[in-house]
Amino acid sequence: KMALPKTTPQVSISTTGPPSLLTYTPSSPLPTPPKGHALVRNAFIGINYIDTYFRSGLYPIASFPFVPGREASGVVVAFGPDTSPPSATKDGKGVVEVGSRVAYLHTATYAGHTVVPVEALVPVPDGVGDEVAAASLLQGLTALTLIREAHRVERGDWVLVTAAAGGVGGWLCQLLRAVGARTIAVASSEEKRGLARENGAEVAIGYGEEDREKFVEEVLGITGGEGVAAVFDSVGKATFDSVLKVVRRKGSLISFGNASGAVEGFALGRLGAKNVRLMRPTLFNFIATREELLGYAEELWGFVERGEVKVHIHEIYPLEDVVRATVDIESRKTTGKLLLKP
Ligand code: NDP
Repeated sequence: KMALPKTTPQVSISTTGPPSLLTYTPSSPLPTPPKGHALVRNAFIGINYIDTYFRSGLYPIASFPFVPGREASGVVVAFGPDTSPPSATKDGKGVVEVGSRVAYLHTATYAGHTVVPVEALVPVPDGVGDEVAAASLLQGLTALTLIREAHRVERGDWVLVTAAAGGVGGWLCQLLRAVGARTIAVASSEEKRGLARENGAEVAIGYGEEDREKFVEEVLGITGGEGVAAVFDSVGKATFDSVLKVVRRKGSLISFGNASGAVEGFALGRLGAKNVRLMRPTLFNFIATREELLGYAEELWGFVERGEVKVHIHEIYPLEDVVRATVDIESRKTTGKLLLKP
């Protein structure tokens, strides 16, 4: 048993709207874990673009006050009543105990402590630090499941990645290098394109803001007129039409985000022009079972421990600076991962 504080810091909103609505409370009551749950003392909290969709109102929120955040690393400090700790490996070995270092994907993480269902707890190996742990699960597992299951990328495939210097983009470029793909990175500034090249992209280009047809010609030129085997696009509305034009015959368009707004009103018949596969995946549906979650997490930690993926941290913000952090990610000025420290 660990001695627990009575209060913990927390960020919440009582209605949706601009970042300035995010309210920091230094001492809110410590939550108690019910049966089947653990209490985690968060070490670092991962900021993800999806946090902005809930805060802005793009994605619905069931009830207020709402504590944002879907990811953190930390230490298990308590379990709920009659709760058996979960197994630590996908084949049922070991247990997660009070004192275990964990990372997890669950709601209400913009806080000092979070109540987490036990089956969401992912043990963190000794070779992975708390910062990297908080920066890995959401964006890293997204990238890994995209290249394994959304479109199984093969060695030598040309692949196009938008927002390539962002959080997910950094993982995608490095994982694609690790599996031997040829990546065309798309990012909005020369600095971002430099980072994408360092992360293994063979070519890095802009979106063709002035002339979208030029973007299409550029990608077709790079791929010998054929187009790419797969597009992983997270920008959505602003890029959908251009990236559809650069998918090769029998290729995949994996549309997994909407940083510029949601894609709407797409006529399915357009896919027939090249027999393109279109998918709109969510990470959760690739890791819904504990076996899937731990299997992919183990593979992800392997890439980190072998040094094949370096997690680039943009900045660690104190939790009370949550508004500045949110404004920063929405301003397109950031590269890599933003973390909060409670
Ligand atoms: P990022 O660090 O990638 O930040 C967002 C980036 O999107 C920006 O840096 C910017 O890069 C690009 N962007 C393009 N247009 C806009 C715009 N109009 N406003 C703001 N940004 C824009 O965030 P994450 O790594 O956290 O997430 C990346 C994307 O992946 C998000 O769209 C997110 O929703 C999605 N995602 C989806 C998941 C799923 O399960 N489907 C899971 C995880 C993430 P640039 O300036 O180079 O264009």
